[in-house]
Amino acid sequence: MFSNKEEFKKAFRLHLVRRLGIPLAEAKADDVYKILGNMIREYVGKNWARTNLAYKERGEKHVYYFSLEFLMGRLLGNNLLNLGILNMVREGLGELGWELEAIEGQESDAGLGNGGLGRLAACFMDSLASLGYAGHGCGIRYKYGLFEQRIVDGNQVELPDDWLQKGNVWEVRRPEKRVEVFFWGRVESREENGRLIFETKNAEKIWAVPYDIPLIGYRGGNVNTLRIWSAESALDPLTGYFPSGEGYYKYLEFSRSIESISEFLYPDDSNEEGKRLRLKQQYFLCSAGLQSILRTYDKQRLAYDQLPAKVAIHINDTHPTLVIPELMRILIDVKGMGWDEAWDITSRTVSYTNHTILSEALEKWPVPMVRELLPRVYMIIEEINKRFCAMLLERYPGDERRMAEMAIIYGDQIRMANLAIVGSYSINGVAALHTEILKQREMKAFHELYPDRFNNKTNGITHRRWLMHANPELAELYKETLGEEWVRDPRKLTGLLPYRQDSSFQQRVQDIKQDNKRKLSGYILSKQGISIDPLSIFDVQVKRLHGYKRQLLNIMHIMHLYNELKDNPAKDMTPRTFIFGAKAAPGYYLAKQIIKLINNVAGAVNHDPQVRDRIKVVFLENYSVSLAELIIPAADVSEQISTAGKEASGTGNMKFMMNGALTIGTMDGANVEMHEMVGDRNMLIFGLSVEQVLEYYRTGGYSARRKSEEDERLHRLLMQMIQTGPFTSHEWEFEAVYRSLIDHNDEYFVLEDFAAYADTQAQIDQVYRNPSDWTGRAIVNMAHAGKFASDCTIRQYANEIWRIRPLNEDISSRQVY
Ligand SMILES: *Cc1c(COP(=O)(O)O)cnc(C)c1O
Repeated sequence: MFSNKEEFKKAFRLHLVRRLGIPLAEAKADDVYKILGNMIREYVGKNWARTNLAYKERGEKHVYYFSLEFLMGRLLGNNLLNLGILNMVREGLGELGWELEAIEGQESDAGLGNGGLGRLAACFMDSLASLGYAGHGCGIRYKYGLFEQRIVDGNQVELPDDWLQKGNVWEVRRPEKRVEVFFWGRVESREENGRLIFETKNAEKIWAVPYDIPLIGYRGGNVNTLRIWSAESALDPLTGYFPSGEGYYKYLEFSRSIESISEFLYPDDSNEEGKRLRLKQQYFLCSAGLQSILRTYDKQRLAYDQLPAKVAIHINDTHPTLVIPELMRILIDVKGMGWDEAWDITSRTVSYTNHTILSEALEKWPVPMVRELLPRVYMIIEEINKRFCAMLLERYPGDERRMAEMAIIYGDQIRMANLAIVGSYSINGVAALHTEILKQREMKAFHELYPDRFNNKTNGITHRRWLMHANPELAELYKETLGEEWVRDPRKLTGLLPYRQDSSFQQRVQDIKQDNKRKLSGYILSKQGISIDPLSIFDVQVKRLHGYKRQLLNIMHIMHLYNELKDNPAKDMTPRTFIFGAKAAPGYYLAKQIIKLINNVAGAVNHDPQVRDRIKVVFLENYSVSLAELIIPAADVSEQISTAGKEASGTGNMKFMMNGALTIGTMDGANVEMHEMVGDRNMLIFGLSVEQVLEYYRTGGYSARRKSEEDERLHRLLMQMIQTGPFTSHEWEFEAVYRSLIDHNDEYFVLEDFAAYADTQAQIDQVYRNPSDWTGRAIVNMAHAGKFASDCTIRQYANEIWRIRPLNEDISSRQVY
């Protein structure tokens, strides 16, 4: 369409004038974004069609990644990068008087996810397309994504994230591909030719309407599809369904209640809200997604026993577990299959990733709710459970404890993890440590029963977004130093190791970091009016706010530094800027209090002339993917300080590593594997191990109160939370925080790990004083980060779970019109 800058400029001008009917000179940044976005989407249309044609003709096996969350962020910059026209477009726009970064800034983040789990889905989509796999996303088109966070007087305030307000240039609505989804009703059965036939009467029918977004692979990779579903009323207002005079208003009300299914993303990935609407969302996605997959499958006229050879369905945590009973329902009730055959096909098609062992995050649904809302699906779950328990009884006669632990339905609740394990052929954890914990503890009984189903797939991040797009100068330096091979194979970044002591290479790395820090400082000044020193250490903790992630440990250490500086104003300390970014689930009171505490400490520290030149604290509003892309390249220190055993993997840790930050962290999640690569010198490890945490739980031998009495510093900090002083505006202001530590015995061992954390932070202060030493350690981290590129992760999923091969074809010569 345009192969050089002049062609691009010409096409752009033409598009703009044609589409908007205004002269180029009158266009606003927002217009430019829209025009450019539309051009790019049209531009990829051809390869989108070619990819689909190639898949079809080759009878390719497809994998469908089902996820209630896709945290995509902005797409324009990454699409341009993957298409290989980023620089051309930047230059072309520049000549027309527009700065590409400003245009990119016009795009709303697609924030259809909470945190790591949703971002993982997004990184996987990028890797699947770039490596040439037939892999697609299946999700919900929430009208409102994760809430927009404002900080008012130090408190989090949530605003609706109206991300579609200005339209979405990337999506294509496909009303002709809509499918019906049914809720409620009553199941009736009858016999026909010796077979039981089930039919649901009086069910409520709604439409699921798909919107497709192209997933553009890197440089001639495939163009796959993210299909997100929207709920629409299936009632025709003209049919007189509501016979009363108020019929029309009833109709409007009914439509609204239907549309509510795809209205909001639940802003909580760790607490089950027990909301029927959430269950509706889950079934809506599973049913719509499956129907559209099977419709495509049916066109190939293959027998159904071939389904596992042609289709892999992956569920991202237990949220889409209903694909298992729903696929059973379709195979039995619609395709007329017997139970055993349907079960064999289903359990060879579905695979499952577990993302957490936090007990409060293990999904359970009340039986009465599922039975009423999804009567036929409930019958099938009941039958799966009945057969599974019968098998257990035969295998472990008399072992009632085991039965109670493993049953899918237990005490009026349906345990989705158990259903997911029983109904899938692969169960994976997301880091080596996490998978071991699953096998040896949380899912021990299942692992004994199905040892071959369990495997590890350590999470990854796409280096195209998190290095090449977020930190282009660093990527350019790598190209100058190593050539371009690492772009296709990021493990080749180990080629940087010989340069770790090279002073001119170190200088380049330092200059780039400094540049990124200046950019972030500019943003912080303009957005939040706080002036920070770009020469100070940038110490960053950005991630969802949760007790186990221990932002509290970080802020308590900052309070302690403040105390030290007040006691001893001459204290020798490298200036440090502590940067936080975190959203708290709206109903998570303790998390919100920690946000308030951070902001109070920031207020005290930043205004105190005795300390503000050595420490600054910034809480950045509305942490999101696009903000992460600005923050992470500017970080010197990456805070990965979760209680050991609680963070399944973490992916933030990998993004920081790839951008040359040193990690201070616990032996948790993927930190363990990072540490294995870089060693003690290049990663600052502290705190309890998983074994020690478990030992405390087992013996009950931990006393937070005793700890706080033993350590003078802790006692002082605790008092500063509940007495009036520098960090509070009234007595008992942080009562909930205080009580969580003392009365509830510090579930996450903040007090226990405090001393080790403070010592390690002091070590960081020392190392930073020697720039060459510091930079050398940072380079070792950058060099080993390639192992955590999601391309590597996705190759493992493809080879070991999905058994799919990349489409190694140059699709550009295919005729599509
Ligand atoms: C990567 C990422 C996360 C996950 O961060 P963790 O530190 O692994 O919890 C959350 N939110 C956003 C916006 C991200 O980009």
